[in-house]
Amino acid sequence: MDHPEAQRAFATDVVRQLRDANYDALWAGGCVRDRLLGRQPKDYDIATSARPEQVRELFGRKRTLAIGAAFGVISVLGHKRVDPIEVATFRSDGNYLDGRRPEQVTFTTAEEDAQRRDFTINGLFYDPLGDRLIDYVDGERDLRAGLVRAIGDPSARFTEDKLRMLRAVRFATTFEFAIDETTRDAIRSMADEVTVVSAERIGVELRKTLIHPNRSQGVRLLHETALLHPLLPALDQLATDHAVAWQAVLTRLQRLETTSLAAAFAALLFQNADSSSIRGLARGFRYTNKEVDRVAWLVEQLPLVEQAADLPWPRLQRVLVHEGAPELLAVSTACWGAEHSGVRTCRTRLAMPIEELNPPLLLTGDDLVAQGLRPGKYFGQLLEELRDAQLEQKVETRSQALDWVDRWLADHPSLGKRP
Ligand code: ATP
Ligand code: MG
Repeated sequence: MDHPEAQRAFATDVVRQLRDANYDALWAGGCVRDRLLGRQPKDYDIATSARPEQVRELFGRKRTLAIGAAFGVISVLGHKRVDPIEVATFRSDGNYLDGRRPEQVTFTTAEEDAQRRDFTINGLFYDPLGDRLIDYVDGERDLRAGLVRAIGDPSARFTEDKLRMLRAVRFATTFEFAIDETTRDAIRSMADEVTVVSAERIGVELRKTLIHPNRSQGVRLLHETALLHPLLPALDQLATDHAVAWQAVLTRLQRLETTSLAAAFAALLFQNADSSSIRGLARGFRYTNKEVDRVAWLVEQLPLVEQAADLPWPRLQRVLVHEGAPELLAVSTACWGAEHSGVRTCRTRLAMPIEELNPPLLLTGDDLVAQGLRPGKYFGQLLEELRDAQLEQKVETRSQALDWVDRWLADHPSLGKRP
């Protein structure tokens, strides 16, 4: 949402148009919660007594999208600076067959619509025209108390939709809330059933938990609610059996200063699994190929950072010119602290001007051909060694590089004779 004021005005206007047409209409759910918390809502959802067809009729077919119509949701499009707003008919959900989605929905009252929502803090309505909070579920009380509490009977609500268990941890993490005791007990007793949820949805919730600065509490909560067991069994085992190692994981998650999912995932699992298992886990949560590669790269490079103070510069330089170097520094700092010798070395080097950190190549393969060398596989080796010499500042100019090539050829008489 690029223009929060415009978005808010649009959300108010949609409510006004519905009211003018004699329908009930209210802001609902996350946006009401966020405003009470003094946060900018990510988006505004509207709940209304109007049926999907009536919403379309009121705003016009061209200004509406009916993608979610089966659940009573119509998207109303605004002018170009605002995002579409979802307008959902008050509904109660029918039976849940697959532990994730209702079989059918029934259109109903605002009060029943509140009851079908997951947590009390997400069950609030707000009337933007009358500046009035409508609270059927004691959501305001829990918001003030900092509590995530299921609406109704927690076990029944988690039986309907197992994803809610992960949402509870995610909301507790991102708002720094506690989970109400009865709700937490219900999660603990059915946590293993979370696996009926698609890997992708699980991955999304875990991502939101891990990228948040409060991720350490979030991961601790995953363990305490027994959700860590189905998600990351080996880590759960570690948490249960090795208090010291587990505390180290939590500490580095807490120290980690980045919003990178790859960095957080690496910090979570480094030293607790090898890089190929970690890669498999990241792929299992359907993280992007780029993130999966980055996680594996990070856990492979971390041991080098630990020894960076003793590494030859050309070896370390090749790591630090990688696109992932800032994430690597963030994870290393979280693992060993800012004053660790290897971490300090990397931080100092990364602060160097780019021409020094990564000076342009003195020669390329084309230059070698222009010098009359016969192209071949040995070009790779020659140029790598020339790069080392350059980084060690043994060779600093193009003409020194050409002399260096002559000496190299003399030392490797079987390779690259000039024709
Ligand atoms: P976010 O800040 O992540 O967008 P949100 O509360 O807006 O949080 P959404 O997933 O956008 O969450 O859902 C909007 C609203 O729909 C929620 O506030 C809640 O009332 C309801 N809701 C969403 N998912 C569920 C669910 N799985 N079960 C019950 N109600 C849900
Ligand atoms: Mg939302």
